[in-house]
Amino acid sequence: MGVFLDKPKKEKESESGEGNGLQYALCSMQGWRVEMEDAHTIRIGLSPYLKDSSYFAVFDGHAGDFVSKYSSEHLIETILELWQCDGKTEDESSEKVLEQSLTDSGELEKFREKIIEGFLKIDLNMRDLPTQKSGTTAVATFVTPNKIIFANCGDSRALLCNNKNIKFVTSDHKPYNEEERKRIENAGGSVMIQRVNGSLAVSRALGDYDYKNSPNLPPTKQLVSAEPDLDIIERSDDDEFLILACDGVWDVMTNQEVIEYITSRLLIYSDLKKVCEELLETCLAKGSRDNMSVILVKFPHAPEVSADAVAKEAALDSRIKEEVEKMVKEFGDSTTLNMVCEGLQNCNIPDLPPGGGIQSKLNLIEETLDAIMPDREEQRGAGMLSSLPVPLSMLRQLAQEGDNPEIADVDADDM
Ligand code: MN
Repeated sequence: MGVFLDKPKKEKESESGEGNGLQYALCSMQGWRVEMEDAHTIRIGLSPYLKDSSYFAVFDGHAGDFVSKYSSEHLIETILELWQCDGKTEDESSEKVLEQSLTDSGELEKFREKIIEGFLKIDLNMRDLPTQKSGTTAVATFVTPNKIIFANCGDSRALLCNNKNIKFVTSDHKPYNEEERKRIENAGGSVMIQRVNGSLAVSRALGDYDYKNSPNLPPTKQLVSAEPDLDIIERSDDDEFLILACDGVWDVMTNQEVIEYITSRLLIYSDLKKVCEELLETCLAKGSRDNMSVILVKFPHAPEVSADAVAKEAALDSRIKEEVEKMVKEFGDSTTLNMVCEGLQNCNIPDLPPGGGIQSKLNLIEETLDAIMPDREEQRGAGMLSSLPVPLSMLRQLAQEGDNPEIADVDADDM
């Protein structure tokens, strides 16, 4: 089945910026998949009237990129239109909106409702467009001066880190969750091989109109629903960072591993793009076969670069280089990347990046090897999966889902 490339597309799209007291960066990578179907949106200042609030969202498309792209371009506008039109005449709104801030709890509650309405409205709007069976998850966060609003639909995930711990994390919408299964069965469907009707791996999504055709049921009761879960979390001074990512990241790293790894990179890089890029490289080395996107939002209390951590990392890198050189000396021209990786794992090198492990050093290992053996003939990239132990979670996922993370093989032919 042609859903994977011979070697991963490692080119990364990155950007970074700051505003409203936040620093942020984004990185996305196509990886092993034939198509790039992820999309994202970053907005510092929601509108001229809500300048002090910002928006970050990740969309993980499947069966095409139409719905993910369209949602990344229009979801926020759809929500803001509903909000700005809400019971105000045009004159009133221009006067009133200047004072708008989502700090008033009444206004915040109204805004929350508009987010849910916005998800359902854009889903209805796209139905008339040529979506070609595509669908997307959506995880969006609205960062106001004192709150973070999380809106989640599907199995992408947003996590707020405070003092090295999870302060809040969204819940994935998997078909086998009790609440989801009930809705699916009430709509006449079933959950097989952990998928909706044995095919779709998420139970909430925008698009996927083949799963939204029960004539007597409202949109929120269909096999697949576009209704997001909404959570409003109070910000505090010691919040460190917010991270949004699609399942290409979460499939190979736990929440705690991501927290530890990001924390360790923030001690080394002031450039947040670099932090995001290394996270995706590490996920690729850990065996992720999916498109990957990550947005990192840094709050003032986040760890800052420390000279001590930078020195430690430099020592670690030199140690790894030395070990690689030693192995090449020992094995000569027959040295392969696989051998080196296996050898390094047996060295028990201390101070490897927490949450990242030796996999987070794969690029360094390859570069070192290339420098010593410029003519080494080895299939690059393809060796990566076999060179490092595939995490248990990945094996389980492959066993459950076949090769395609979003759509089971049974459905792949008619995409
Ligand atoms: Mn995915």
